[in-house]
Amino acid sequence: MKSKEFTVMVLWLFICEFCIRQGLRPRLDKAENTNFARLHQSTTIESFKACYKREFLRTPNELYNIENGANMHQTRLRLGLSHLRAHLFQYNLIDNPTCQFCNLEPETTSHYILRCPTYNNVRVRFLIGLTTLLDQDYMASLNDDKIVDLFLHGDPLLNHNTNVDILSMAQVFIVDSKRFSLRILQ
Ligand SMILES: [Zn+2]
Repeated sequence: MKSKEFTVMVLWLFICEFCIRQGLRPRLDKAENTNFARLHQSTTIESFKACYKREFLRTPNELYNIENGANMHQTRLRLGLSHLRAHLFQYNLIDNPTCQFCNLEPETTSHYILRCPTYNNVRVRFLIGLTTLLDQDYMASLNDDKIVDLFLHGDPLLNHNTNVDILSMAQVFIVDSKRFSLRILQ
């Protein structure tokens, strides 16, 4: 959480706590099922604190801090906010999502990771890397969606070191593909 957001949240906490102590309930977001609405529904200080911890305090995923040359681009792919044409098209930044390198289909995350012939060489290296890390049964269980998920997030069922290796190899793929500008990392 950024310091400004943290300050706002602490201020919010004090206001809500004051209101609850005074028997008042602040007028918050009326929409149901928002974290603010759930906070609003707290009737005691204890339930308010528990709700605050549950809804606003998150434990960062250590695996998302791995830096092997392309963490920023890996994060953008996770969020669907990369320079892939399907992502740009989704936000009306371009008028055609088709991959400009192969013209075969929209340049989605799965197209980039699994199918675009432009990246066959880096893809083969990534898949060979997976076979060295994972056992045969696990490899046999992989489908396209699972490979994309591994590339972006790892797998909580695997141990930490294996996940670090997988996400690092995915960043090598991103760097070697030269699909995204890496200038900001230099
Ligand atoms: Zn393509």
